[in-house]
Formats: sequence, structure tokens, C-alpha cells
Amino acid sequence: CAIFGIYGTPESSVHTALGLHALQHRGQEASGIVSFDGKDFHAHRGVGHVGENFDANSAPMQALKGHIAIGHNRYSTTGPSEVRNIQPFSSELAFGGFALAHNGNLTNAARLRASLVETGSLFQSSTDTEIIVHLVARSHQQGVSNRLIDALKQIEGAYSLVCIADDMLIGVRDPHGVRPLVLGKRDDAYVLSSETCGLDIVGAEFVRDLLPGEMVVIDKTGITSIMPFQEQPSRFCIFEYIYFARPDSILEGRGVYHARKSIGAELATESHVDADLVVPVPDSGLPAAIGYAQAANIPFELGIIRNHYIGRTFIQPTQKGRTDSVKMKHNANSSAVAGKRVILVDDSIVRGTTSRKIVLMMRAAGATEVHMRIASPPTINPCFYGVDTPDKDQLIAAQMSVDDIAKEIGVDSLSFISIDGLYRAMGEARRDPDCPQFCDACFTGDYPIKLATGLSAKRVS
Ligand code: 5GP
Ligand code: SF4
Ligand code: MG
Repeated sequence: CAIFGIYGTPESSVHTALGLHALQHRGQEASGIVSFDGKDFHAHRGVGHVGENFDANSAPMQALKGHIAIGHNRYSTTGPSEVRNIQPFSSELAFGGFALAHNGNLTNAARLRASLVETGSLFQSSTDTEIIVHLVARSHQQGVSNRLIDALKQIEGAYSLVCIADDMLIGVRDPHGVRPLVLGKRDDAYVLSSETCGLDIVGAEFVRDLLPGEMVVIDKTGITSIMPFQEQPSRFCIFEYIYFARPDSILEGRGVYHARKSIGAELATESHVDADLVVPVPDSGLPAAIGYAQAANIPFELGIIRNHYIGRTFIQPTQKGRTDSVKMKHNANSSAVAGKRVILVDDSIVRGTTSRKIVLMMRAAGATEVHMRIASPPTINPCFYGVDTPDKDQLIAAQMSVDDIAKEIGVDSLSFISIDGLYRAMGEARRDPDCPQFCDACFTGDYPIKLATGLSAKRVS
């Protein structure tokens, strides 16, 4: 998911809509904005892309008045995509209005929810995020930030949050800092955004990343930083660099584009094969393919063209329909690949569906050899921290050896980057096995935040 927040401008909701638009890649199912004008909260939420719901001149945008606003793009990891699950959530609590948007996933949600329901809480949604609202509502602490800290001390998992309460904008990152959250400044206004690309679009200058476990409280007196939790080792999600974040974002001091190019270069060092061309699987494989081609010193060509107009709402009622939709997204550029030995570079293989189709497409277009290089280690475990990796039984690399995957997707050779190669590309000498510098659980099974009983076997929903 994406989160965004701004304090200190009468145009808060317009900036929030722009921020969400820049963060669209983090969630395309639904979007919402909640604003506060000093007296009242205003909210608008809708299914679909940001642009479909937040047109600058539309009546809902005009109604989102106030000097504070927060927004959210939904990418469902818990709960189905229904209107009631669209964030930010806003409610009237004993101390006043409270609005909240969350990126991440709670690992003790089932237990907390069951005990809240047992003692009388009425849930409006099926998301884990709403648990935080109920815990804040029930807290006996004084003041909103203390109530929020009290609530957060009861939850486990990955979260970056933005909240509005008591004429304040609050931002928080979980103690391991699994999901990103950056702070920016635009004139007198403070901005919080999942990624720096959300700052760029509103003309805010980057101030810094929030620290793991940090809470910032922004009000008319300025910004206050609090470290309310016991310090934990930082475990930023390495998959943000591989796939999830936008390449023009800078997270935790590393440019995502450069990280991806370095992974590609490292792949070329680890597993180069003689070939005529490097071809990216667009768009996610592009920066790694550039890095590979530069390091291996062989030509880079756009051998696959992506159609950007494929409708998210395109109806695919049958398996055949879903299969064809891969063709609707990608097509071979036969003039570039015919008669050539091709190295395809993609960021990851999840189910293997994309790779299988693309390899067939390359051969049909006349490629004489098709080699595949993957800019992540094999994905063998689900993510419980906010990325929608499927269950283990759907992950092709959890079910088959690399050689068998190569046969299954029909390539002449297949290599994934090694876990140490990935860390080298991130500028680390090697992965520290006792305390890894990143969360890499989907590749290693080393989950930094404990999972509730049964979670490792089956995903929560
Ligand atoms: P596959 O077709 O193997 O199931 O998926 C691999 C493709 O999905 C890759 O091209 C990759 O860019 C993309 N991908 C990887 N991880 C994710 C994810 O978490 N969500 C979505 N929507 N796509 C992903
Ligand atoms: Fe990121 Fe993978 Fe960890 Fe999930 S399990 S937070 S995708 S590194
Ligand atoms: Mg892709």
C-alpha cells in the first residue's frame, strides 16, 4: 500500500491526491483521502485508480477542505477489496476524531481481533488496520499520541502509519522499519510519504527517512520526534529495492534505480552466458537489465513491448481469459530479437506465469536461444509484512529446483542472483547471518518479526 500525509497548507487534499498518484504503483485497487479543517473531518474513498476518484475540480475534491490531509492507496494483503475496507479509516472516538492509514501487515491480528470482538468491539471492515483504531479507542492513556503508542505496543508486524487527531499529523514506522516512510518539507508544510517520489510530485524537499521505531508528531508548533519502543535491529524490506518501490525513489539512503542496476551488474558477474542481446521484461526488469548489459558489455534492446493501457478492470472470467491477458500486457518485438541469442532479465519469478509466456513469445519471434536471469533469489516463502506474495504451494521456486523451473518455463538456461550477490549489490560486504541488514524472509525464511502460530504454514487473510 501507499500512505501520504501533509500538515500546514490549505491545499492539503490536492497535494495528497498528487502524492497518491505518484505512489499508485504501491496499490491500484482503491484510494481514499481524509482531511481536517480544524473543526471537521472530510473523507472520500473510491475503488480504482487515484485519478478516477480525485479529479482536482470534482465535487469530492472540493469538499476535502482543511490544512491537514492523509491518503492511502490500497493493495490488498488482508481482507477483500470492498468499499468498507478502503482507507484511511476515520472515526469519532472519546477524545475526538481519529483518522488512520496503514502500509504493512499485522502478524498478531487474528488473536487481537478475536479478543476485541469478544469484549464488545464492532468491526466495520475485515482489515487488520482497524484493530489499531479499536486499541486507540480503548486505551486508558492520556492524549492521542500516548494512546497510539499504547495501541502500537500491543500489535506485532510491519507498519508505517499516518494519522490525524487533535489537530496533529502523526507518522510512525514499526520498530524494525520494514516498510518505508519519508519526511519532506514544502514551505511551511510537512509531508509524509511512503517514498520520495511522493515528495517530488508536490515540490517538497526531502528531509529524511523516519527511523525504525520513530513517531513524529506534527502540529502548529512544528515537529516532535519520539522513540517510544524498545530498539530493534533495522530490517528494511529488501524487496522494496527489487520490485516494489518506484525506481526514482531514494529509500534509506539508497537510490532504487541504482540498487536495481547494481543487482543486474552483479547477476552478470555471477552467471553470465554468451549472447547477442539483453532484453528486459518491462517494466519491472528494466533497471536490472540495463545494469546487466552495461556490466556484460553486450547490447541492450527493447525486445518486449509493454502495453500500458491494459485495463485493471478488464474482465477475465475464464482461465483462457487470464492467459490471454499476459499477451495483452506484453508482446515480442520480433524485429529486435529474430535470429538472436537473448538474455531476458526480470525482477522475480513468483508463479512462473509471466516467464512461461514470455519465453514462448521470444521463440515464436525467432530468438535462437533464450536465457533468463532473475534479479532476486528464488521466492520460496510468503510475505507476512505487507507484500502480497502467494502461498508457498503457489510459488514455483518453493516447489521445484532451478533446473526444473528452467525446463518448466522452457529456457536454455536460468539463474537467480545469490543472496550474497544481492547484498553485495546493496553495498554490503555480505549478509550478516546473525542479524541480516534487511528483511529477506521471502528468499531465506528468516522472518524478523515473530509469526503467530500457524502463520508460517498458512497466510493470514
Ligand atoms: P509470475 O508471473 O512468475 O507469477 O510473476 C512474476 C512477475 O510478477 C514479475 O514480472 C514481477 O515483476 C511481478 N511481481 C513480483 N512480485 C509481485 C507482487 O508482489 N505483486 C505483483 N502484482 N506483481 C509482482
Ligand atoms: Fe519484503 Fe520479502 Fe520481507 Fe516481505 S518477506 S517484507 S517482501 S523482504
Ligand atoms: Mg514484472
